[in-house]
Amino acid sequence: MDTHDYKGTLNLPRTSFPMKASLSLREPELLAFWERERVYEKALANRKGGRPFILHDGPPYANGDIHMGHALNKLLKDMVVKYKTMRGFYSPFVPGWDCHGLPVEHQLMKELKVRKHQIDRARFREKARDYALRFVDVQQFKRLGIFGDWERPYLTLDPAYQAAIIGCFGRMYLDGYVYRGMKPIHWCPACETALAEAEVEYDDHTSPSVYVAFEAVSGIEKALPGARGASLLIWTTTPWTLPANRAVAVRPEFEYAAVRMKGRLLVVARELAGRVADELGEPAPEVMGVCRGRDLEGAVAAHPLTGDGSPVVLSNHVTLEQGTGLVHIAPGHGDEDYQIGLKYGLEIFAPVDGRGAFTKAAGRFAGMRVEEANRPIVDELRGSGALLLSREIAHSYPHCWRCRRPVIFRATEQWFIGVDRRDLRRRALEEAEKPPGSPSGGAAGSPACWSRGPTGASRASATGGCRSPCSTAPAAASRF
Ligand SMILES: [Zn+2]
Repeated sequence: MDTHDYKGTLNLPRTSFPMKASLSLREPELLAFWERERVYEKALANRKGGRPFILHDGPPYANGDIHMGHALNKLLKDMVVKYKTMRGFYSPFVPGWDCHGLPVEHQLMKELKVRKHQIDRARFREKARDYALRFVDVQQFKRLGIFGDWERPYLTLDPAYQAAIIGCFGRMYLDGYVYRGMKPIHWCPACETALAEAEVEYDDHTSPSVYVAFEAVSGIEKALPGARGASLLIWTTTPWTLPANRAVAVRPEFEYAAVRMKGRLLVVARELAGRVADELGEPAPEVMGVCRGRDLEGAVAAHPLTGDGSPVVLSNHVTLEQGTGLVHIAPGHGDEDYQIGLKYGLEIFAPVDGRGAFTKAAGRFAGMRVEEANRPIVDELRGSGALLLSREIAHSYPHCWRCRRPVIFRATEQWFIGVDRRDLRRRALEEAEKPPGSPSGGAAGSPACWSRGPTGASRASATGGCRSPCSTAPAAASRF
């Protein structure tokens, strides 16, 4: 067979462009070229006087090597900034680093192999500062080809940055936005710290499941004829929150029935009566009377541990998915409980310290850790006849993302920024809605963040020094 050199007969493109990408070699060359030619600075100089488009960089923590999430985040931002620059906008990009907070502390503690209280605070802050600066210096984002002012990033530990935040905070304080109050938050007793919503992971956990009768003291008979001498039946998987009980919640539109079970008269949601009877090992109960939840509002039951009055309150959080349709409310130990507490003026009571142990305010349970206190509390309820059933259930429960231990809800004294005071929330949302390119457009933080919740809790419980005292006021902070 003849052999022909067909290659010579093809009209192939002639190019100096290499056939192989060899990215690991080419990229550094390209980046060096951009840097040598000051391409970012020149592009910016060309757009001087153009309409500004400022992308505010939500900074990553300076606590370690970057990961794929960081890469994706910065690359998307870079595309937007480069695109806007090509469209004629003046679009400088100032990258930032969050040098404070638990992610930095946690990594440092791992490196030092110490726990929080094993090290002097001032010394720890110095080390945390050095640690954060070390990762600012690594400059891994530059390697991704991100254009920006990498020599002058904004650092949350920069005194000028902190001074601006303090100045803004001072203005908010003088204008009456800042106040102190109690609010429950996710708390890790092992790490002794507050956890943000995103730092909580749900995992299987075995908890006690208890049915507890709250003896009605007043108002019940009027609302529910035939309920003379009845008790309100609640179900909980956290008996340790019972010392902090301040109310019993029902749903206004649900039907509640007085039924006979375990030789006593109990009030439960009518729809759940059969299921509760099954659970308690009782036959289908006889219904002695029925009313709506809203009729029960204002009735008072006796706290099963202290005998204090525990009023019936209304809440739309109550569901028929599990339990009895009556919910024990501890405003210091639950988010919904807290909302109800605010509405009804209940005490935001949380007699639990940072290590998850009961304080003196918990009386005879003082000193016990909450998980150890479940048993004596259940024993006491059994002794007084208030306990109708106690067993264990496996369910999904919040855990700390760092130590993987179960977390608790615990009210702590916190500083708040009253975002509903003086119309601040509406004004911030309006700012956030302004089109990108306007001086403050898009600078007001996430609209979702401003839309939810009654207040923003400012978070300053970290050891690693003063984070922004108004970390929930991104609008004000990013204006400077
Ligand atoms: Zn933890």
